[in-house]
Amino acid sequence: MDFARARTEMIREQLILRGINDERVLEAMNRIPREKFVPPDYRAYAYDDAPQHIGEAQTISQPYIVALMTQSLKLKGDETVLEVGTGSGYQTAILAALANQVYSIERHQALADSAREVLDELEITNVEVMVGDGSLGWSVRAPFDSIIVTAAAPAMPMPLIDQLTESGRIVIPIGAHSDQMLEVWERRGAWHIEKICAVRFVPLIGECGWK
Ligand code: SAH
Repeated sequence: MDFARARTEMIREQLILRGINDERVLEAMNRIPREKFVPPDYRAYAYDDAPQHIGEAQTISQPYIVALMTQSLKLKGDETVLEVGTGSGYQTAILAALANQVYSIERHQALADSAREVLDELEITNVEVMVGDGSLGWSVRAPFDSIIVTAAAPAMPMPLIDQLTESGRIVIPIGAHSDQMLEVWERRGAWHIEKICAVRFVPLIGECGWK
């Protein structure tokens, strides 16, 4: 399997042709080996235009959705980012390439452990992973310039709003259990909420998520 070639094709066909144009996002996704973040049996499908199973009934997001969510944060390089839902750690690695420091929370110990292992193998050092309920944010590490939630919430978890900087951005899927809208919340004095597209994420399970 020629992963480098699969990666280049993914960048062109799934990202550029669909309008992803942030050069930093494209560069990071062309560099981070996505195949390392999927279980060995699924490696051949790592660059497919679809989510993949990663264990614990969870999934690694489709490449396009990772790119779209990351691009919507408009990262420049000096930000502190909170990620809720580490999962495989792939999105975490992309964020780490584009921001100064990433804090990532996962509720499944096994997923957090394997994500940490791959991040270490890739020598990605600007990430701290914690096991816990990310619907409550991570108050001791706040405030965050950007927050990305990669599990579906019934409504915006209020602790995340409280832990965002004055000009911060949150990208999050909000809606029903079965389908949601990807929303970008931006604080510019008042809140601006942009609905980007329909998505289907696994549920955010926690105190300020699904019970
Ligand atoms: N960004 C990840 C997506 C993983 S799926 C990737 O591309 O691999 C969403 C993840 O959110 C799952 O691993 C799930 O266990 C986790 N999750 C769900 N509710 C959570 C919560 N309240 N706190 C932290 N993680 C949560």
